[in-house]
Parts: sequence; structure tokens; C-alpha cells
Amino acid sequence: MMDTCKNIRMAERTTYKIGGPAEVMAFPETGNDVIELLKGSEISLVLGGGSNLLISDDGISGMTLNLGKTFLGINLEPMGKLDVLVRAGASVNLTKLASHAMEAGLSGLEFAHGIPGLLGGALVMNAGAFGNEIKDILHDVTVITVDGKEKKLHGDELDFGYRHSSFPKKCVIKEASIRLARANPELIRQRMGVIQRKRKLHQPLNAFSAGSVFKNPKNKYAGRLIETARLKGEQIGKAQISQLHANFIVNLGGASSQDVYGLIRMVENRVLEEFGVKLEREIKLVGEFKEIL
Ligand SMILES: Cc1cc2nc3c(=O)[nH]c(=O)nc-3n(C[C@H](O)[C@H](O)[C@H](O)COP(=O)(O)OP(=O)(O)OC[C@H]3O[C@@H](n4cnc5c(N)ncnc54)[C@H](O)[C@@H]3O)c2cc1C
Repeated sequence: MMDTCKNIRMAERTTYKIGGPAEVMAFPETGNDVIELLKGSEISLVLGGGSNLLISDDGISGMTLNLGKTFLGINLEPMGKLDVLVRAGASVNLTKLASHAMEAGLSGLEFAHGIPGLLGGALVMNAGAFGNEIKDILHDVTVITVDGKEKKLHGDELDFGYRHSSFPKKCVIKEASIRLARANPELIRQRMGVIQRKRKLHQPLNAFSAGSVFKNPKNKYAGRLIETARLKGEQIGKAQISQLHANFIVNLGGASSQDVYGLIRMVENRVLEEFGVKLEREIKLVGEFKEIL
């Protein structure tokens, strides 16, 4: 029997630790549960790890699909002598998947270690770091479309860009296969260690956030523009433009989503005024926010 609950606090389900209630949240346990839900109701949000979301203080009306209990398997299938196809459920944690690959002596997912999302969210966002993106290792994806049909898509049927993907509208990603190369586990561990140290050095990992707020404009760094606009450390309520990395807006504890939104608008206006650059948001805003003039 699938659980559905009312008024679930989103603050407990996002890395920002903010956001009002989801009116209804469904916790499907199987692919069939997802199919039934898609056939029977309109879904407002498919929730992965909640690590790229700013949810309004007023919450989310309608139904949120929480896939945390669904699609958790990992299977390895050799592909010739050198490669292995790793088939994983959409709710597998990306960092755990990267560790699993490392232990199996499989290289290609090192960059994803430390990204706090799930595989489905990583595919929607085409998550990436340090010059790599998930699209580069993607083999195929199985999705459930809005009309409740399962469809397998080959990686090259999909159009990916920088933190952008082209999945069918409102589909649910069920699982994906990624192609990894056999390599020495110790070398993989070392590469992951280097990446982890870089993250710790340059990102405010001890504060609540949703990672980079803005995409880097072509040939520019959003963080550098924000810093040059003298916005580092700016605060609204308990939300702050990180002192460590200006493209992170952190919740110091007790911030509202509206506080974060206020800083987002401040950055957008100032960077446009000072440099003529219109920043594009990387994080996804869900629900209503007030425009402060
Ligand atoms: C400290 C920190 C560091 C970060 N570093 C990086 C980084 O280096 N690189 C990077 O790219 N990102 C980074 N991020 C951002 C974030 O972790 C990624 O965007 C991640 O891929 C989001 O995955 P998620 O499962 O949390 O998705 P969510 O935030 O839950 O959702 C993101 C989007 O995907 C959709 N979605 C999620 N799962 C599914 C599914 N199964 N089917 C259909 N739609 C789905 C949601 O509806 C939403 O539109 C960082 C975030 C934090 C907090």
C-alpha cells in the first residue's frame, strides 16, 4: 500500500532546510505505483534529493512525488573487456554510486562524489563538476511519461547542455545506465580525494545551501561577477551570500525562502547594472515568491 501524506514540511527534505509544506506527498514504492499516480493525478513536483531546489515559504500546492523509497537498485554488466555498464535506480545517491563504482574499480564518476543529489536529479540537471558532466557517461535512461508509459531513451536521443536536459515534459526518471571504464581503485580513490579537497576548500559545505545559485555565463564565472559587485557577505534575514564562494547563498539557520529569493534578486539586479550580464539561475524555484521593489 503506497503512503500519501498531507502537509509535509519541505524544509526537512531539501538541503537548504527551508520551504513550506507540500500539500500532498506521495511515496511510491514501485514503478507501478508511479504509473498509477501519473495516470490519476497531476504532479506538481518530482522530488529527488532536494539539493537544487528553493521551495517557497508558502509550500507546494497539489501533489509532490517523493521517490526516496523507489528505484534503489544497482547492477553491473560487463561491456567488453574494458567497460562496465552500471544500471542504477533514479533514487540512488550520486555520492554512494561514485563510491560503489570506485570499490568495483570503475572510473568515470569521480567528479560526482560530493554532489548531494540522486541519480534522477543529476540527469535532469546534467550535473557536473571539474570539467565532467553526467551526460558524458550516460548510456540510456528509462522514464515513465505523463501518460504512464515506460520508455527507454538512448543517451544520444537526448539533448543535454550546461545544467540542462531535454527529458519529455513532466516525466519521471526511473533508472539509467552509465558506462564506466575499468581502472585501478586506488587511483580512483586518489582522484576523488583531490576533488573532495577542492570542494572543501572552495565551497561552504558546513552551511545549508543548494550549491551554485547561478550558471556561469559564457567565458565568465558567476561567483567572480558577484564578488566584483561587492556582494560577498550581503545578508537578508538569515540568508547570506557566502563569504567563501559568492555563487552560493547560504542559510545561516532560520532563513526563509523569501530571504534567499531577496538575495537572488539583489544579485541579478546588481550584476546586470554593473556588468550588463543577465545571470541565469541554476537552482530551481518552486512555488510563489514576493517581488520586493
Ligand atoms: C553543497 C552542494 C554542492 C553541489 N555541487 C554541485 C556540483 O558540483 N555540480 C552540480 O551539477 N550540482 C551541484 N549541486 C546541486 C545539486 O546537488 C545537483 O543539481 C543535483 O544533481 C540535484 O539532484 P537532486 O536529486 O537533489 O534533485 P532535486 O533538487 O530534488 O531536483 C532537481 C530537479 O530534478 C527533478 N527531478 C529529480 N529527480 C527526478 C526524477 N527521478 N525524475 C524526474 N525529475 C526529477 C526535480 O523535479 C527538479 O526539477 C550541489 C548542491 C549542494 C547543496
